[in-house]
Amino acid sequence: AGGMERHQYDVVVVGAGGAGLRAAIAAHESGARTAIVCKSLLGKAHTVMAEGGIAAAMGNRWPEDNWEVHFRDTMRGGKMLNNWRMAQLHAQEAPERVMELEDWGALFDRTDDGLISQRDFGGHKYARLAHVGDRTGLEMIRTLQQRAVALGIDVFMELTVTDLMKDPSTGSGQAGRIAGAFGYWRESGRFVLFEAPSVILATGGIGKSFKVTSNSWEYTGDGHALAMRAGASLINMEFVQFHPTGMVWPPSVKGLLVTESVRGDGGILKNSEGKRFMFDYIPEFFKAETADTVEEADRWYDDKKNNRRPPELLPRDEVARAINSEIKAGRGTPHGGIYLDIASRRMPEFIRKRLPSMYHQFKELADVDITAEPMEIGPTCHYVMGGVEVDADTQESAVTGLYAVGECSGGMHGSNRLGGNSLGDLLVFGKRAGEAATAYASSLGDNRPRVDEADVKAAERSALAPFEVEGGENPYTIQSDLQQSMNDLVGIIRTAAELEESLTEVEAFKVRAKSMKVEGHRQYNPGWHLAIDLRNMLIVSECIAKAALAREESRGGHTRDDFPGPNAEWGTKNLVVNLNAEGTGVDLHEKPLPVMPDELKKYFEEKS
Ligand code: FAD
Repeated sequence: AGGMERHQYDVVVVGAGGAGLRAAIAAHESGARTAIVCKSLLGKAHTVMAEGGIAAAMGNRWPEDNWEVHFRDTMRGGKMLNNWRMAQLHAQEAPERVMELEDWGALFDRTDDGLISQRDFGGHKYARLAHVGDRTGLEMIRTLQQRAVALGIDVFMELTVTDLMKDPSTGSGQAGRIAGAFGYWRESGRFVLFEAPSVILATGGIGKSFKVTSNSWEYTGDGHALAMRAGASLINMEFVQFHPTGMVWPPSVKGLLVTESVRGDGGILKNSEGKRFMFDYIPEFFKAETADTVEEADRWYDDKKNNRRPPELLPRDEVARAINSEIKAGRGTPHGGIYLDIASRRMPEFIRKRLPSMYHQFKELADVDITAEPMEIGPTCHYVMGGVEVDADTQESAVTGLYAVGECSGGMHGSNRLGGNSLGDLLVFGKRAGEAATAYASSLGDNRPRVDEADVKAAERSALAPFEVEGGENPYTIQSDLQQSMNDLVGIIRTAAELEESLTEVEAFKVRAKSMKVEGHRQYNPGWHLAIDLRNMLIVSECIAKAALAREESRGGHTRDDFPGPNAEWGTKNLVVNLNAEGTGVDLHEKPLPVMPDELKKYFEEKS
């Protein structure tokens, strides 16, 4: 590796979404030499697409709101499978993190009293989402990015990390610590080695394993796969969130998100018969807090104290399943969706002011005026609850020096994430991870890990392998077959037979991927980039299918047609997945949930 570009840092953050930027700021502010690496342009992360807002119990609209109510909502939304400690820290610290964003220059929408405005979202008892129109993520990224740049944090953009490096030292009992990260410049194809005792993964989601998704090309599960290859575990991988409302037409934008704020601001769901069908799908678990008549549901928007919330604002898993059933029953729209109607419910000025991006999105992409006609929508793969298993307080994985934060970490959201709880998660745990990674790096003194040159060579060989293949298959074909297979067999409604079939197909894709071939050379070569990412997509897909097959119940983002309804025993355990010893596939085991202390249990005792 003679001429290879090399850098030394204390903390390397992989990913420049909200989680990565917040972690990098915290690391820098705690004194670490910090670098941010991201595979697209800075600012182009997933976070920028977030629309609705950041959930934080600030109590600006409802003084009754506090961390305890937010904690309870989060746990119930996740069907009690969340890591309770993460849910608690998140609820307690999110308001402070939002205030801090404001101190750093974020301009939130305001209440009439000049406080940060908070809007309603599914599963949240009170209006709780701090927002900037329907472009909250953009403002969040702008603020964090500006701060990171002003602090002088080094940024390496359009650089993909493909492997993590571990300390080979023996005898000291420290072998296996993280020692750095290896990657390549997307433009030149040249390799780069980062030597660092702390690496924070903040790579976001996995949506590109599915055909219909709200996620962009970057979300290939890289952090999930990097962590597994380094020896960390993933949890909750069976839980994939299908957002109820994605665009269904035209085909070029199928899956693109339609924000939940449309429903939060008064939009309702109707089938082709014009029926407002969500009243037929209120589950027992949420009956007590959901309106059962149209009149009560409509009164709720103005009088939340004396009315229960509309069923359109049930948690996402419930709404997505209901839409799916209506479409399956033949009551869908011409393009295979369901109607989302705000036009008949709110004045055009209100819609344009509250939902400017949605207005433009439909006008430009579908030639639909949402102030005059209903939208056609359907479920879309949106978010993965599963991710790297981490310590709740520090976000450290089982591998010393390796941290994971944001969507690529697991535990916080249990079996289903509430809207708005991701942006809060990024800020709260980004800060914690940055501080913990710095504390660890500083504690090492001269005893820093070293990178093994043999591992660097192996990483190079592995990245270049697709160029060595003679006459193999194009990675695009494999990717597109994988996406279709995951959509058809591991989607919203699952069965043992289909999951088994999916695992067989994944095995076949793995074989095909071994002889995947890319044309041309290393200068900006999208085929090669995809070949590298596809390895990650395949591991992640296997994790999802395997965990989905093992969990014989329906809960949150995991619905089994052959095991409808939750099962009390499954409600006490997580499924954990690891790379097997040969590195060829996925091992799975059950693990009891961390035990919630009694003083927190009290929030769930009263029957409601
Ligand atoms: P991301 O923001 O996804 O950033 C990932 C970063 O990792 C990127 O910089 C990427 O380039 C980099 N990266 C990935 N792989 C590599 C690699 N191998 N090497 C180097 N860099 C890499 N949540 C809410 O709470 N409220 C909302 O209103 C909301 N709306 C949403 C709307 C849409 C359309 C979508 C798609 C999601 C929405 N979410 C919302 C979810 C939320 O936006 C995401 O979960 C969150 O932004 C993820 O942030 P992150 O920092 O974990 O990762």
